[in-house]
Amino acid sequence: VGTGRGAQLGILIKGPEILESTRRVDTIVLDKTGTVTSGKMALVGAWSADGVSRGDLLRLAGALESASEHPIARALAVGAAAEVGPLPAVDAFQNHEGTGVQGIVDGHLVVIGREQLLADWAIELGEELATRTREAEALGQTTVIVAWDGEARGVLSVADTIKPTSERAIAELRRLGLAPVLLTGDNSTVAKQVAAAVGIDEVIAEVLPQEKVDVIRRLQGEGRVVAMVGDGVNDAAALAQADLGLAMGTGSDIAIEAADVTLVRDDLLAAVDAIRLSRRTLGTIKGNLFW
Ligand code: ADP
Ligand code: MG
Repeated sequence: VGTGRGAQLGILIKGPEILESTRRVDTIVLDKTGTVTSGKMALVGAWSADGVSRGDLLRLAGALESASEHPIARALAVGAAAEVGPLPAVDAFQNHEGTGVQGIVDGHLVVIGREQLLADWAIELGEELATRTREAEALGQTTVIVAWDGEARGVLSVADTIKPTSERAIAELRRLGLAPVLLTGDNSTVAKQVAAAVGIDEVIAEVLPQEKVDVIRRLQGEGRVVAMVGDGVNDAAALAQADLGLAMGTGSDIAIEAADVTLVRDDLLAAVDAIRLSRRTLGTIKGNLFW
């Protein structure tokens, strides 16, 4: 009955035994991008280093990001094409999960990603671009660094929007006795801004995709019973490790596969409904058994 009612509410539950585990859940880990936020990002800023034209920055960066499926990449490719027109082709594209991308565009080896990825290539940001990065992050924007031929050439920033229902859903989750935790690969300035806006005080940021599962294990090691809500390929292992994994219906197939519950309605209020529903269903079953 519970799974049937769930289906009506747009909550797809893999099996009735899953309802059982929701009763003890006391912590809910929320992925940021695509879960708390819409994940529909837009290019909002571009700063090129001295001697680099804005057109070249957008053309090379946009071209490389056209080969990636990441929400940041889509925003950059669309934003760049809107300004500079058709983008050149990419060769030897490589994705570095949770840190960035690389490939060859117009004969240049282009690397785009977070500072750590550039540091792996021994590429320094320089004072000017570092300042631009901090300024954009202080506004809650996510920044990536663009480098080619071994030098940082610019910084691009994208802005995401918080889903209008996230704040209310998080208050409801607290009312159900769940402590919310924000988990993200994004930088901690941006993560803290989003957390503050929706009423979360526990933030775990700058986490690599393979480390997300370790965070879940660590929380479980502290005796917490953990639900996790996520959407990305990089959330799959963590969703599987969680005591209760909930995937956004708009998420990647791998995340949906790994989760116990799929939220067809693409917002966190659906997660509230899922937890409330399972508790109520269990209460009803127990009542019937007794009487
Ligand atoms: P989240 O945990 O919020 O879903 P990800 O783990 O997917 O974020 O990405 C973490 C960080 O890695 C991004 O904030 C960005 O700095 C970098 N990154 C990932 N993919 C790309 C890409 N295609 N282009 C540039 N940077 C990227
Ligand atoms: Mg995500």
